[in-house]
Amino acid sequence: MDKQAVFAQVAHLEERIGELYGELGSLKQKIIELLEENSKLQIENEHLRNRMDRQSGKSGEITVSIGEGFDALARLYHEGFHVCNVHYGSLRTDGDCLFCLSFLRKS
Ligand SMILES: [Zn+2]
Repeated sequence: MDKQAVFAQVAHLEERIGELYGELGSLKQKIIELLEENSKLQIENEHLRNRMDRQSGKSGEITVSIGEGFDALARLYHEGFHVCNVHYGSLRTDGDCLFCLSFLRKS
């Protein structure tokens, strides 16, 4: 058995694992960015929908759609995203956010 060859193979494998680890990290970052972009679009969509409903002036439907908009934002919050003006759309990494909670309470 050529010990040098085995050692070279292990070193090569270690290098490839390092590269894969780096790629995995950047893919993970891209997924986070996509999730955050998606949640920002959902929040903007809810705000626009609420504004449109307010302008349309159909009082019977307003309460229903504001309730639906609130549910969508509350759901987004529970899925782990900020819905507050401070960090909106970004992933919540430190547990509950007081800004989000007070925003959801006001809605
Ligand atoms: Zn927040």
